[in-house]
Amino acid sequence: MKVNLFINNKEVPTEQYTKVRDPGRLSEVVGFIAKGEASHIDQAVQAAHQAFRSWSQTSLDERIEILLKAAEEIERNTSFIASVTAKENGILLSRTIDEVKLGLMDLRNMVDLAPSALQSRELEDESGWVRVVKKPMGVIACIVPWNAPIILTLQKIAPILLSGNTIVVKPSPTASMGVVTLLATMAKSFPPSVINVVPGGGEVGSALTSHPLVRKISFTGGGNTAVSIMKSAAETLKGVHFELGGNDPAIVLDDVDLKEVVPKIVEGAFRRTGQFCFAIKRVYIPDKLYDAFYEQACAVADAYKIGHQLNEEATMGPINNELQYQRINELVDRLEKSGAHLVKLGKQLEPENWANGYYLQPVIVRDVNRSAEIVTCEQFGPVLPLIRYQTEEEVIQMANDSEFGLGSSIWSSDFNRALNIANQIEAGMTFINGHGQTPLGSKTIPFGGVKQSGIGREKSIEVFDEFIDYHGINFHKQKS
Ligand code: NAD
Repeated sequence: MKVNLFINNKEVPTEQYTKVRDPGRLSEVVGFIAKGEASHIDQAVQAAHQAFRSWSQTSLDERIEILLKAAEEIERNTSFIASVTAKENGILLSRTIDEVKLGLMDLRNMVDLAPSALQSRELEDESGWVRVVKKPMGVIACIVPWNAPIILTLQKIAPILLSGNTIVVKPSPTASMGVVTLLATMAKSFPPSVINVVPGGGEVGSALTSHPLVRKISFTGGGNTAVSIMKSAAETLKGVHFELGGNDPAIVLDDVDLKEVVPKIVEGAFRRTGQFCFAIKRVYIPDKLYDAFYEQACAVADAYKIGHQLNEEATMGPINNELQYQRINELVDRLEKSGAHLVKLGKQLEPENWANGYYLQPVIVRDVNRSAEIVTCEQFGPVLPLIRYQTEEEVIQMANDSEFGLGSSIWSSDFNRALNIANQIEAGMTFINGHGQTPLGSKTIPFGGVKQSGIGREKSIEVFDEFIDYHGINFHKQKS
């Protein structure tokens, strides 16, 4: 499979292509992805800038109709988009199919919210008449990571397009084929140049973020990259919208039923092989439940079947890329050398294939110090530290002692007790007795974090404010 750039509703070939290897079977090549350059970014941004003139003039009803048509097109191609994505990024195929479905749910929710979110206001008194209009900004640069590329792209671009902006998307080098396929499928329903995609690495990203015709940057990824982007955006005073990493705490209270909560907490940590921004990355357990929690968590983690992402028996796939694989291995090595008590769990499905992919066993670490590296960093892999606590006051302080503030969860059979603690947590989102959103939460909670976990939010009605400019028109009445 050969995937090109996509500019002005046309596939654009490049001089160079990057070989994309299957992270679960490194000897196999999944395909070839076009290598974008700064000149392609300029071509894409110019095209999107031209298209903005007419796209911004369409009515919201027209844009809704087009987006819903595109959603149907994606739906028809779900299995193709999901299989290309799973093969290149290593996330289980079943999960990637769900990712496309959830992304479409987000898109349709945005369609439902757009009419009230984008409504203008008109007011009048004896002195004058006022209209406050919400206008699109122009070309928006959208930069997405590899870990959940389909849902993160869909949830990012739906409100941007509905508001009347045009886009240039730069996917991650280790998950570009699926995103280009998704966007080229969508673009069939759109006028030319509204949707453009240029894959490439950091240098292509920085050509995009520094382009003078880009009006705002919407970025999902790591904090260090966000710092570079913010500096580059400063040159032309662009706005930034950041969804960044997290170090989500799960606080277990002493009134829980462990049988009920332990499997949910372990899954909240190890889903997608631990590669999602709001994964549980540290668990706080009261002294009296600590040993029982540890035993049960090990039993649950040991039931994971680690294998190739297309193997239907597998419940945990490989790590996405070499850098990340090495990073987690080194982290675990340092933990072992420090004398930490850790266990490597799970079953290898195809042990003969183990060295041919970025496979890792899930790791549970017990009796960890509250300031150990594994507690304070964003490990972004299947390693879970369990930390003891004595009092509620102490655990709240430990949970908040982080530069991150994305998600968090409280586990208790007493709603009021859990709510009281939830109110004191420094995070963009706090879940009670789950680690993720319910269907209602998914539609209504602004997604994102505080502190170094982000700037701005995605999903929910609030997101539209990120991608519009206000235009106020004020008519002075003449005194007759
Ligand atoms: P990353 O920051 O390395 O890369 C993200 C994207 O930025 C990629 O497309 C990359 O090519 C691009 N990029 C790299 N350097 C750039 C530059 N100088 N200018 C412009 N673009 C540049 O992140 P990653 O490793 O792909 O993803 C993992 C990170 O993303 C984790 O920290 C994770 O927590 C975070 N994440 C956050 C959310 C959220 O919604 N809060 C969701 C998923 C992932």
